[in-house]
Amino acid sequence: MKTHVRVAVIGGGVVGCSVLYHLTKAGWKDVVLIERDQLTSGSTWHAAGGFHTLNGDPNVAKLQGYTIGLYDELEKISGQSCGLHRSGGLLLADTKERMEWLKMAHARARYLGLETELLTMPEAKNLLPLLEEKYFVGAMLDAADGNLDPYGTTHAYAKSARIGGAEIYLHTRVTALERRGDGTWHVSTSNGSLNAEHVVNAGGLWAREVGRMVGLELPVLAMEHMYLVTDEMPEVVEFNRERGHELPHAIDFKSEIYMRQEHKGIVLGTYERACVPWQPRTTPWDFGAQLLEPDLDRIAPSLELGFKHFPAMAKAGIKRVINGPFTFSPDGNPLVGPVQGLPGFWCACAVMAGFSQGGGVGLALAQWMVNGDPGFDVWAMDVARYGEWATRGYTNEKVRENYARRFSIRFPNEELPAARPQQTTALYDVLLAQGAVMGDSWGLETPLWFAPKGVEPKDVVSFHRSNDFPHIKAECLAVRSTVGLTEIANFAKYEFVGEGAEAYLAKLMTNRMPLPGRIVLTPMLNHQGKLIGDFTIACSEPGRYLMWGSSQAQIHHMRWFEAHLPANGSVRLHRFGMSLTGISIAGPHSRELLARLTDEDVSSKGFRFLDHRLMEVANCPAKVNRVTYTGELGYEIWVAPEYQRRLYDRICAAGRDLSLIPFGMRALLCLRLEKNFPTWFRELRPIYGVFEAGLDRFVDLSKPDFIGRDAALAEKAGGGKVRRISLAVDAFDADVLGDEPIWHQGKVIGWATSGGYGHCVDRSLAQGYVPVSLAEDSGAGAFEVEILGERRAATILTEPPFDPSGSRMRG
Ligand SMILES: Cc1cc2nc3c(=O)[nH]c(=O)nc-3n(C[C@H](O)[C@H](O)[C@H](O)COP(=O)(O)OP(=O)(O)OC[C@H]3O[C@@H](n4cnc5c(N)ncnc54)[C@H](O)[C@@H]3O)c2cc1C
Repeated sequence: MKTHVRVAVIGGGVVGCSVLYHLTKAGWKDVVLIERDQLTSGSTWHAAGGFHTLNGDPNVAKLQGYTIGLYDELEKISGQSCGLHRSGGLLLADTKERMEWLKMAHARARYLGLETELLTMPEAKNLLPLLEEKYFVGAMLDAADGNLDPYGTTHAYAKSARIGGAEIYLHTRVTALERRGDGTWHVSTSNGSLNAEHVVNAGGLWAREVGRMVGLELPVLAMEHMYLVTDEMPEVVEFNRERGHELPHAIDFKSEIYMRQEHKGIVLGTYERACVPWQPRTTPWDFGAQLLEPDLDRIAPSLELGFKHFPAMAKAGIKRVINGPFTFSPDGNPLVGPVQGLPGFWCACAVMAGFSQGGGVGLALAQWMVNGDPGFDVWAMDVARYGEWATRGYTNEKVRENYARRFSIRFPNEELPAARPQQTTALYDVLLAQGAVMGDSWGLETPLWFAPKGVEPKDVVSFHRSNDFPHIKAECLAVRSTVGLTEIANFAKYEFVGEGAEAYLAKLMTNRMPLPGRIVLTPMLNHQGKLIGDFTIACSEPGRYLMWGSSQAQIHHMRWFEAHLPANGSVRLHRFGMSLTGISIAGPHSRELLARLTDEDVSSKGFRFLDHRLMEVANCPAKVNRVTYTGELGYEIWVAPEYQRRLYDRICAAGRDLSLIPFGMRALLCLRLEKNFPTWFRELRPIYGVFEAGLDRFVDLSKPDFIGRDAALAEKAGGGKVRRISLAVDAFDADVLGDEPIWHQGKVIGWATSGGYGHCVDRSLAQGYVPVSLAEDSGAGAFEVEILGERRAATILTEPPFDPSGSRMRG
C-alpha cells in the first residue's frame, strides 16, 4: 500500500470505481481506492442493472445521459463487457395527469437533446404486447433505456482506472480518518495507514459510518428493495422469435412496478407504499454479499395490479426473489461534492440509481477536484443542499415518503407532508390562523398564499392554474394598491466583520461594496465567470457588512466563503440561520406604515431607495433595508426571533386602517415577474454568465480584480452564447412552470426557466434563455413555449410590463 496519495476513494461499488476512473481520466494518476471486501460488495452486486435518463431535474437527466453514453467507452478501454442491453423503455400513463407529465418530460427531453417519443396505446401495445391496453391512456418511449451487468460494469470502471494509473486495495477497511495540521488526511485501515490530500466517501451502504469518522451525520438512509425474476415465459420467447430483439423495459406508474426482459423471462421490481428502511441507525460492518428475507405480502398490492395490467405475468413461475438494501437521500438525488467545513473531504453517496447516475457523479466529482468546478450545474445533487435540520429522523421520514412516491406525480404546486413542520418561526400559528397555506423552504414553514375566510386553506394540486389563482391575484393587487406584509425569515443571512471585510467581499463579488448605510445588489461568479450567487449586501458601519441570499444555497455559499477567507484572520464570518428573522412590508402605503412604528426619518429623502439603517421599529432593535422584491416601495425589517411576534403584532395594528393584507411567496414570485426580476436557481444558475443573465448593471468592470473578472470580460467582448429574456405568453389555463422548450420558426432554440401569471398586468409571463442572435426578435408571437404539449405563442418583452421606469420602488 502506498503511504502518500493525492486521493483515497473509500468504497469499491459502482460509484467509487467511477470516481476513480474519472480522476485518472482527468489526469490525476496518484489515486487509490480502498475496499473493505471485494468490488461490488455493497448494494452494487444485487442491483437489477436498469438504466434510464428520466429525472425530475434536467441537469441530473443530462448527467444520466452522459452515464449511459459512457459504457461503450469503458468496454473499449477495459476490454471488459458491461453486458449492455439497449432495449429502450416505455413509460405507461394511466391518467390524463400522468400523460400531461409525460408530455412535459418529452418536451424537456427535446431541449436536453434526449430521444423520446409520445405513443398512442396501440403503438405501445405493438412494442410491448404483454400489456393490457385498456388500463392505460398513452405512453412515452425513451430510446436510451436499457440494462447491464452490475458486476461487469463496476469491473470495467475499475480496470479502466487501473489502466489510467490508479491502484485498488481490496480486503482493506478504512477504520478512522483524521485531519492533520497540514490539512491532509490520515487514513487508518485494517492493513496500515496512508496520507491523502483528498478523501472521497463512496461508502454506499456505509456512507453514514464513513461520514461519522469525520463528525458528519449525512442525510442518507438505506431502504429494502425487492424484485422478482420469472421462469421462462412462452410470450417472451415468441416475441423474441418474431421480432428478433428483446422486449423493451416498462414502467407502470399505477401499479408502481418496473419490468424488463431477463434471459427468456422477466425481472419485475416494485417501489411499494409499505416500504421499509434497512438499518435506520448503523450499518453493521460484517454485512457482506447477503440478501434480505423477501416479504411478498408487502408488495402484493403492486403485484396484483401489475398482473392485471400484464396478464402473462400472472401465469409465470417465479424463479427467485431478490431483496436488497440501497441508499437514498431525502429527495432521492445523490449527495456529491466537497463538504463545508472539512476541506479535502468529498462525498459521492446516496446514489440510488448507480447505473444511470454513477458515470455523471464520477465525472462531476473528478472535475470538481481537479479543476475546482464540477463543470456542470450539479446543484440538484450537491451535498450542500441540506442544512443542519436534515437530521436522522427527518431523513428517515423523507426517504420513506420519497421511496413510496417514486412513481407518483409531483405536481408543481404540491407540498409534500412528511417531516413537517420541521422548523417554524414565532409567527407560524398566527399565520395559520389567518388562512396561510404553508410550504417548505429549506426545512422552514413559509407562507405560500392566504385563504380568505370561508375558503379552505389547501392546494388543489394540478399542472394548470389552480384554486389559489384568485387569492394570489387579490394579494398582488393589494400590494400594488395599498400595502402587504410577508414573512421573509427563510432568506439566508450572513455577517462579515473585520478590517479585511471590504476587500474580501470586493474580491468575491462583481459589484463595488456599499458605503456605510447603503445597500448594493451583487452577483458572485466562479473562476469560469459563471453565476454562483446573487446577494444583497448592506454596510452597517465601516468593516461590518450584512448580506442576504438564497436560503437553499447557504451551505453551498458558506463553503465558497470559507474557502476564500484570508488566512490572517482579518475577516470574521457569521451565518445567522434562524437567529435573524424578517418581515417585509411593500406597497404604496408602506412608508406611512413604517413611519407609524418608528421615530426615525423615513421620508423619501431621509431613507432613500437602497438605504440601510439600524433603527427601533415598534420598540424592537431592527436592521431595516429599503428594498423589496415586489418592485414596489417597500422595506425589509430584520429582528432577533424574540422580537418577531411583537413586530408582527404592531405592524398589523398600525396597518389596519391602511388596508394592510398578508401575502405569501407565490404572490411575491408573480410580482417579481411583472418587473422582469430574475430569481436564484431559476434564471440564475452556474451555467449562465453574468451578461447572459442580463445583470450588466451589477458588474463593476472598473474594479481591478474580482473572481471571474477575466471570464466576465471575455463574455462581454464575445457577447455570450445565450441571453435571458422575458416573454408574454398566450397561455390558456396553464402557465409556464420552468424547463419548457422555447420554439422559434419551428425549432427548439431555448428553454423557459420560470413563469406564472402577472395579475397586475393581466398576462401570462415567463422568463428563459435563447441564443443571443434571437434575443432581439421582438416581433409579436415570434416565439412559442410548449406548455403541456401545446405550443403557445410568446412575445419578447423589451421592458418590464409593470412600472418600467422603477419609479414606484425608488419614490
Ligand atoms: C434490489 C436492488 C435493485 C437495484 N436495481 C437498480 C437498477 O436497476 N438500476 C440502478 O441504477 N440501480 C439499482 N440499484 C441501486 C444500485 O445498486 C446503487 O445505486 C449502487 O449500487 C450504489 O453504489 P455505491 O457504489 O454508491 O454503493 P455500494 O454498492 O454500497 O458500495 C459501497 C462500497 O464501499 C465499501 N465500503 C464502505 N465503507 C468502507 C470502508 N470503511 N472501508 C472500505 N470500504 C468501504 C463497501 O464494502 C462497498 O463495496 C438497486 C439496488 C438494489 C438493492
